[in-house]
Amino acid sequence: ATPMSIMVSVGRAAQLGVLVRNGEALQTASKVTTVVLDKTGTVTQGAPELTDIMMLGDWMLGDQMLDDSLLNESVSVNKNQSDQHALLRNVASLEQHSEHPLASAIISKAKADGLVLVEPEHFTNYQGKGISGQVNDQQYSVGNVSLMQQLQITAAENCELLSKEFAGQAKTPIFVAVDKQLVAIMAIADPIKTDALEAISAMKAKGLKVVMLTGDNQITANAVAQKVGIETVIANVLPEQKQAKVLELQQAGEVVAMVGDGINDAPALVSADVGFAMGSGTDIAIESADFTLLSSRLMVINDSLALAKASMSNIK
Ligand code: ADP
Ligand code: MG
Repeated sequence: ATPMSIMVSVGRAAQLGVLVRNGEALQTASKVTTVVLDKTGTVTQGAPELTDIMMLGDWMLGDQMLDDSLLNESVSVNKNQSDQHALLRNVASLEQHSEHPLASAIISKAKADGLVLVEPEHFTNYQGKGISGQVNDQQYSVGNVSLMQQLQITAAENCELLSKEFAGQAKTPIFVAVDKQLVAIMAIADPIKTDALEAISAMKAKGLKVVMLTGDNQITANAVAQKVGIETVIANVLPEQKQAKVLELQQAGEVVAMVGDGINDAPALVSADVGFAMGSGTDIAIESADFTLLSSRLMVINDSLALAKASMSNIK
C-alpha cells in the first residue's frame, strides 16, 4: 500500500473509534486468520457484580464428601446475615489493595451494604490467582482453585464441586479461606457484551477462527463461550501461558489477532501479530497493543479487520 492510502485508512479507523499505532499494523491486520479473545472485559462487559455469598457448613467440607444431591441443599445453608456481613467486610478490606475488576465488585457490594472497611496487613497478590493477607488477626486467602491448592487450604479438592452451580451460570466463583479453612464461596457475574454473539458470528462467517483465553476456570469459561458461539476455550491460564498459547497458534501457521484489556493480557498482546486493546483497559494493555478500541463494542474488531483488508486491496 502507498503511504498515502495507509494514511487515509488510519484516518478512517479513527472515525470508527480505532487508534492505529502504525501503517505496518494495518498491513498485518489484513492477513489475520485467528482472533484470540480474552474473556473478562473483552467478551464480557468488565462490570462484574457480586451476586451470591454461600457460607460453607462443616459437613460440606468433610471427608465423606458431597454428591450432587447434597450440593443443591448447600446453597440454602446460609448462616445468618451478620456472619455474611463480617466475611464480606473482611474480604472487601483485603481487596482494597487489588486492582482486579473482581476486587471492585466485592468492594462495591460491601459499601452498598454500608460496611466500613478496615486496613489489612501483609497483603500479597498472586497474579492470575487471587490475594491473601491479614484482617483482624485472621489470615484470609481469596481467589481461585489453584490459589486454594497452592496455599494448601483444607478441602480445596471440594472447590470445583461446591462451585459447579455458580460456574454453570457463567458466574466466577471466588473461594474464601480463613486461617487455611475454606469458609465461603462468593459468586461474581459479569454480563456479556450485547454485540458479542453478533460480532463473533460475523468473524466465523468470514472464515476466521475464534479462540477464548482466560485465567478464569473452565466451567465458567465454557458457559460464557457457549452464549457467544465460541467453540475453542482455553481456561485457567496464567499471563505467561496466554503468551505461550499465542506463539503456539503462530507456529501452527495462524496469523493471530489478540484482543484484551488486562495486565495479564499484555505479554500476549505484544507477541500476537496484531494486538487490540480495549480503550477501557489497563494502560499496560494499551501500550502493548497496535490498535486501541475506543468503543467497548466487539464489532469494531470486525470493522478494523475489514478496513485493513480494504486498504490493502486498494493498492494501485
Ligand atoms: P482473566 O483472564 O479472566 O482476565 P485473571 O487472569 O486476571 O482473569 O484472573 C484469573 C482468576 O484469578 C480470576 O478469575 C479469579 O478467580 C482469580 N483472581 C485474580 N485476582 C483476584 C482478586 N483480586 N480477588 C479474587 N480472585 C482473584
Ligand atoms: Mg481481561
